[in-house]
Amino acid sequence: MSKRDYYEVLGVSKSATKDEIKKAYRRLSKQYHPDINKEPGSDEKFKEITEAYEVLSDDQKRSQYDQFGHAGPQGFGGGGGFGGADFGGGFGGFEDIFNTFFGGGGRRDPNAPRQGADLQYTMRLDFEDAVFGKETIIEIPKEETCDTCKGSGAKPGTSPETCSHCSGSGQLNVEQNTPFGRIVNRRVCHHCHGTGNIIKEKCRTCSGDGTVKKNKKINIKIPKGIDDGQQIRISGEGEPGINGGPAGDLYVVFHVREHEFFERDGDDIYCEMPITFAQAALGDEIEVPTLHGKVKLKIPAGTQTGTRFRLRGKGVHNVRGLGVGDQHIVVKIITPTKLTEQQKQLLREFADISGSVPDGHEESFFDKVKRAFKS
Ligand SMILES: [Zn+2]
Ligand SMILES: [Zn+2]
Repeated sequence: MSKRDYYEVLGVSKSATKDEIKKAYRRLSKQYHPDINKEPGSDEKFKEITEAYEVLSDDQKRSQYDQFGHAGPQGFGGGGGFGGADFGGGFGGFEDIFNTFFGGGGRRDPNAPRQGADLQYTMRLDFEDAVFGKETIIEIPKEETCDTCKGSGAKPGTSPETCSHCSGSGQLNVEQNTPFGRIVNRRVCHHCHGTGNIIKEKCRTCSGDGTVKKNKKINIKIPKGIDDGQQIRISGEGEPGINGGPAGDLYVVFHVREHEFFERDGDDIYCEMPITFAQAALGDEIEVPTLHGKVKLKIPAGTQTGTRFRLRGKGVHNVRGLGVGDQHIVVKIITPTKLTEQQKQLLREFADISGSVPDGHEESFFDKVKRAFKS
């Protein structure tokens, strides 16, 4: 059975004054009082009037009624309605409401162990150090567990006490009476700021934080073959964990400096070797620098500029242990710019004997050049 509007029951407007409501009630209660009115249904009618009056004559109940009407999320427990009902009665205590509204889950224990944050460190590295690896020590500023209080934040000899206000949960249940019953809201406990603990006497070293900022020296083993932009993870060297949780990790990112002579592409090394015209023409054995020391390289007679030679296994050891790269040598024939008289004379003689056509290019090459100019 749906309830009638209380204002309608009393026959007053929504803006009726207290006095108007009182008058309306008096008039109607006389009319329907069971002692006076013996008509069937007058009993129900009288209850309805009384209930309406109880609510509308009470400022607080009236404003709640104006706001929410008869029904709330759970109704009014089926009995009594506003008429003297215990608003909490329809529910099994606030835990039930709590669970209804919040599903009982999602409560985060502030004392649960949590992993510390990860840190990142950028390291500039010499070319050779990246190729061959290196052990080094870096210093990074980071939060470290306070030695004085061992991370508790409490002065030595004392210990943090469980917050009595929230029983260590870090959250307070704030009850509110509403027309639907008691509603429980969770708020961060302002006594312990959500930590669940109260430190009465703070550690002087860390001011109660449990951590101090320190420059920590960390041993870094740079693996051989590491390349520019790659990183390594050093487990447990990040920020310290919270509530006894594990520390975070440290990531070291490498930026490798360029080499003045070698260039690197993956595990392969490239370099350019200047040779003379005579070496190229007559052939020679030259010494070539590699990352692994000097190596002899045979230049065959008649080598052209730009010819590439490969030295197997003279590159970089793969960082994951997948073999070794090669070194590639590109020869570049250098034309002399400062010649002595004697050199000039010999070259002129050489030119006279050779003619003006380069070896192997004969007439056809010059025919092509002539054709190119005609078009
Ligand atoms: Zn401390
Ligand atoms: Zn607390």
